[in-house]
Amino acid sequence: MLGLTFVAFFWICDLGFRHSIETTVNDSSRTNLDTVRRLLANTASQGDESLRAELRDLSNLWANGALLEVADAKGTWLFRSPQFLRASPSLPQLAASDIAFFTTNLDSSQYRVALGLVEVAGARFEIHAAVPTEPFDQALDRFRIIEKEALPLLVLLASLLGYWLSGKSLQPVNRIIQTAEQIGAQNLSRRLEVPEPRDELRRLTETLNAMLARIEASFQRITQFTADASHDLRTPVAMIRTTAEIALRRSRKAEEYRDVLSRILLTSVETSGLLENLLTLARADAGAAGLEMLPLDLNAHLRRAQEQGAVLAAGKSLSITLRTPDMPVWIRADEIAIHRLLLILIDNAVKYTPPGGHCEIALSQNQDHAHLAVKDSGIGIPESDLDFIFERFRRADRARSRETPGAGLGLAIARWITQMHGGTITAESTLGMGSVFHIHLPITAA
Ligand code: ADP
Repeated sequence: MLGLTFVAFFWICDLGFRHSIETTVNDSSRTNLDTVRRLLANTASQGDESLRAELRDLSNLWANGALLEVADAKGTWLFRSPQFLRASPSLPQLAASDIAFFTTNLDSSQYRVALGLVEVAGARFEIHAAVPTEPFDQALDRFRIIEKEALPLLVLLASLLGYWLSGKSLQPVNRIIQTAEQIGAQNLSRRLEVPEPRDELRRLTETLNAMLARIEASFQRITQFTADASHDLRTPVAMIRTTAEIALRRSRKAEEYRDVLSRILLTSVETSGLLENLLTLARADAGAAGLEMLPLDLNAHLRRAQEQGAVLAAGKSLSITLRTPDMPVWIRADEIAIHRLLLILIDNAVKYTPPGGHCEIALSQNQDHAHLAVKDSGIGIPESDLDFIFERFRRADRARSRETPGAGLGLAIARWITQMHGGTITAESTLGMGSVFHIHLPITAA
């Protein structure tokens, strides 16, 4: 490519050079022709002899080898340079007051001839002024020789320089490759060395580092999730095992067995709930949750969920009130997911409210959103914990939460469900006074 570019460049230079030579030579012979024209105008009236003498003097004056011949109207030569005499070139016929240029060989040298017709005081003269092209041709030849010699040298030099330059500019890339090859699961916190110049390579490195940071964060979340999940599963399984082992150590009465079995059953039910939550979040992470979004009346669904919640509340002597509009509230949602979301919130409200307390569920809608508020008069959440209760395995104020069962997955699932439905979930709380969870979901036309 470089070779081709150079060839094209030299070709254009050659063309320009030739054009410029032609213009210069034409100008030079035209100037000579004009000088003769002026001389004729001044001397023609003084007779042929003095005209001849003047023309000879002029021709002698031209030091650069320029030639001249002048004929009168009858075709008689008034003056001819010896080269014209010897070569007698066949020159074209001219129309009146024309000027023309052409190239010819005179006495084995090349000349550019300007031909002109002049009328002086009624008499017509034909002038041929010739300028040798040899010096120019020599310059062109020299230029061509330089071109020929320079081309391979330039290509070689440019290639070597290009090779050196690309090697130098790719050095940082090699360093990036070497570091990137060493980064694995064990050292995800390692980062690529950011090159000094502010160029694309630096931006690429920074982007890759940012990507590594995101991968590291996700990796840490997954590791933490696996560790927390194993920990939370180990406790109930150990509990089932030791309860059964102790019961089997000696023979017992039927009542005792029943008591042990019902404890095992309770723990198993809790464990399956935990497993189901883990499975939901794992599917959510894999993007394989497969929600089926259909138009759904949130109002009707809320009533059904509240009925289920009321059963839970009755066991704790809590009251639940429901405030809903008289008309359906349409959203596009997955029925099972929405039901789960409502139950998580109602279950939490009941779970974290002491006996005798009160829960209130309110549904309203504006032009584009449905607003659901689940309020309780329970233990509340410390302000510092409000930010992370929606994260997995995070439970506010562990000391107080310890008595209530739960693994800290409910709100993480609730947040995922609202996000999947294009909505938001937020919490407000005053410690010891109660909490309120707000959910906003986009409504759809019936
Ligand atoms: P879990 O209830 O299983 O612990 P969640 O994800 O549902 O997990 O809730 C996370 C934490 O948020 C709970 O451990 C609890 O500390 C706090 N929380 C949730 N709902 C309420 C509520 N209504 N009142 C007080 N604290 C709550």
